[in-house]
Amino acid sequence: MNHDEAARLLGPYQDGELDLATCLKLEEHLAGCALCQKTLAGQKELVELIHAETPRYKPSPFLKTRLEAALRAEKTLPSAKSSWNPAALAWMYSGMATAVMALLAVGVFLTQGMPEVDREAVANHVRSLQANHLMDVASTDQHTVKPWFAGRLDYSPQVVDLGASGYPLIGGRLDVLDHRDVAAIIYQRRKHYINLFIWPSDAESIRSGLFTRDGYHVIGWTKAGMNYLAVSELGEKELRDFVGMIQAQTVESRPGE
Ligand SMILES: [Zn+2]
Repeated sequence: MNHDEAARLLGPYQDGELDLATCLKLEEHLAGCALCQKTLAGQKELVELIHAETPRYKPSPFLKTRLEAALRAEKTLPSAKSSWNPAALAWMYSGMATAVMALLAVGVFLTQGMPEVDREAVANHVRSLQANHLMDVASTDQHTVKPWFAGRLDYSPQVVDLGASGYPLIGGRLDVLDHRDVAAIIYQRRKHYINLFIWPSDAESIRSGLFTRDGYHVIGWTKAGMNYLAVSELGEKELRDFVGMIQAQTVESRPGE
C-alpha cells in the first residue's frame, strides 16, 4: 500500500470501518511511515479532545445514520465507507467515539509480556469484534464451516461442535497470523466470543500455556500437526474448559479428505 492510499484510509481505519485485509496492509504501511503515524496520532488526539470537551448526552440510535445521510447529500462525504474529511468529525458527536476510543485503548495497551504470536492473536480477536468482521461464514454446522475453508487454505482445520456443552460453534473466518493465512473458528459463550486459530505446526510449534493481558486470555497448544490458539475475554476457567473439550475431540491423525 502506498502512502497516498494509506493516508486516505487513516480515518476509516480509526473508525474501525476497514476490512481485515485492508487493516493489515495499512498497519504494515503505518509501521514504516512516520508521517502516517503522526497523522493518526493527531486524529486520535482530536477525538480525545472532542470527547473531553463535548457535553455528554444520549443520542438516538438513528442520529449517526441521519448525519451520514445529510453529509452525503451535501456531497461533503461521497461514501461513508471510503472517505474521511473534516465534516465527518460531526459523526463523533453520535456518541460512538467513546466506544471507538475504548477499543483503541485496548488495542494499544495489551502489547507486552506475551509471545509475539499470542499478541497477534489477541489483536486479531479484538479487531474481529471491533470491525464487525467476526465471521466470513456464519453457521452452527461443522459440516458447513469445515468445507468453507477448502480452497481458501492449504490445510484442513478440524471443526468441532461444542453446542451441547454450552459453547456453540457460530462460524469461521480467514485471518492472518504468524505471517500466514490461518483458520479462525468462532465459538460463543453467553455474550462472549472465542476465536480459535488453527494452522499447521510444520514451521514451528507455538509456546503452549496460558497468557493473560488486560482481561484477554490466550491458550496455545500443538496437537496432531496443528498449532491452536484460543483467545477470549471469557474467564480463565471457562476458557480452560473450552480448550479441554477441543483437545479431547481433536483426533490425532487427520482423516484423509
Ligand atoms: Zn504513509
